[in-house]
Amino acid sequence: MKVVIVGSGVVGLATAYALANRGAEVVVVGDRAPGSGASSNNAGWVVPSLAGPVPAPGAVLKTLRSMLRPDGPVFVRPSLAPSFVRFMWSMLRACNTSTYARSWAATAALGAGTMDALDRWVADGMAFEMHTGGDLEAFLSREEFEAALGGLDRSRRAGFDPQVLSGDEARAMMPQLNDAVVGAVYFPQDRRVRPASVIAALVTRLQAMGVTLIEGAVTGGGRTADGRPRVTGVFGEMSADAVVVAAGAWSPQIARLFGSRLPVQPARGFSMDYEPGQFAGDVMLMLAEAHCVITPLDGATRLTGMMGFGGLDERVVPRRMQVIRQAPSRYLRSWDPGASALPPSAGLRPMTPDGNAVIGRLAPHQDIYVASGHAMLGLTLAPRTGEELATMILDGGTPELLRPFSPARFGA
Ligand SMILES: Cc1cc2nc3c(=O)[nH]c(=O)nc-3n(C[C@H](O)[C@H](O)[C@H](O)COP(=O)(O)OP(=O)(O)OC[C@H]3O[C@@H](n4cnc5c(N)ncnc54)[C@H](O)[C@@H]3O)c2cc1C
Repeated sequence: MKVVIVGSGVVGLATAYALANRGAEVVVVGDRAPGSGASSNNAGWVVPSLAGPVPAPGAVLKTLRSMLRPDGPVFVRPSLAPSFVRFMWSMLRACNTSTYARSWAATAALGAGTMDALDRWVADGMAFEMHTGGDLEAFLSREEFEAALGGLDRSRRAGFDPQVLSGDEARAMMPQLNDAVVGAVYFPQDRRVRPASVIAALVTRLQAMGVTLIEGAVTGGGRTADGRPRVTGVFGEMSADAVVVAAGAWSPQIARLFGSRLPVQPARGFSMDYEPGQFAGDVMLMLAEAHCVITPLDGATRLTGMMGFGGLDERVVPRRMQVIRQAPSRYLRSWDPGASALPPSAGLRPMTPDGNAVIGRLAPHQDIYVASGHAMLGLTLAPRTGEELATMILDGGTPELLRPFSPARFGA
């Protein structure tokens, strides 16, 4: 079977790997170098434990408060475009307990096999930077801390083993934390990777497996005279037995080429690296109220944050970067925001209104698939998304794990 994948981010590449591993002939078409944007500039957290979707009970109020503050972690550039208004309205309606619980359970189930999948990648010869050590979510506000504890039962039931620490216990684990930290939650099983090294390893492996990687934008889509799906672009025309739309935040544009509508909107985030690393230790740190994360990597510290709704815009905003740079000072004993930071970068998280990824067949087609909308967890969920989608494409039917991610829930 021949499959064309549109999009060479981590989701497209992981899907290509899973398909090629099962003997499919695979072509990946990306409009720029593999992994450009979010797939390389993300925080590198491999965190099945953080399965909570963005639309959560109470999120609306928090977002509104954040929008009113110049240093708020969420910003929205309002638009009257019908797709944007529809998206925001649907997201608002998804901020309820039952939708949150459903999305959490589906994402946790898909993510549960992530570490095994990554270990299979390594066993298959992929070499990339990966660390164990878990992550610590540190709180300055007692109210936020207690609210977070309320959700830990479901984490325990899912086997993520969250450990609740007092401020002093957190400081014993991570001496850099200052006295303002009132408590923390530690997830011991989570890992971190250097995202660009994962992309490089995937590309090398795909090339060795005979997968064709093409650099050029897909600009057209449709069917050949004999009914096969086809895509067109500067590379000419390519037909296949199946097409996978894995173009991240740009997926709606590709879906439209096949007459389908996908409610995916971009949410911009920023990251910057300090080299040499400012932050010693083997545990990733989430600054809970600031919505920023710190990732210790070999010879570097990556600082990441912000969620900005406002179109397909990948520009870095210096004012927002300044907020991210300063955030660790509120949590850490010593943090020099100016120290040898490399130029910042940005990426677009592909978001859906209910916060869950959208993976499956794109109606009304039987041979056009989508794998997008992974929001804050695209790196984490890519390996299992690829494996499950490969099963769907090659074996037919819908794997049980993918049912909650069906595009049909959006009428797509
Ligand atoms: C700041 C930040 C921090 C994050 N941190 C984490 C984290 O720690 N852990 C985690 O799991 N996730 C994290 N994420 C989320 C994760 O990065 C994304 O969910 C993931 O990268 C999405 O991957 P993707 O392959 O779907 O999309 P993308 O990486 O956006 O790839 C899609 C590709 O399709 C290409 N494309 C677009 N249009 C066309 C076209 N017409 N033809 C061909 N190609 C096209 C794009 O150029 C792009 O290269 C973070 C995101 C951001 C922004």
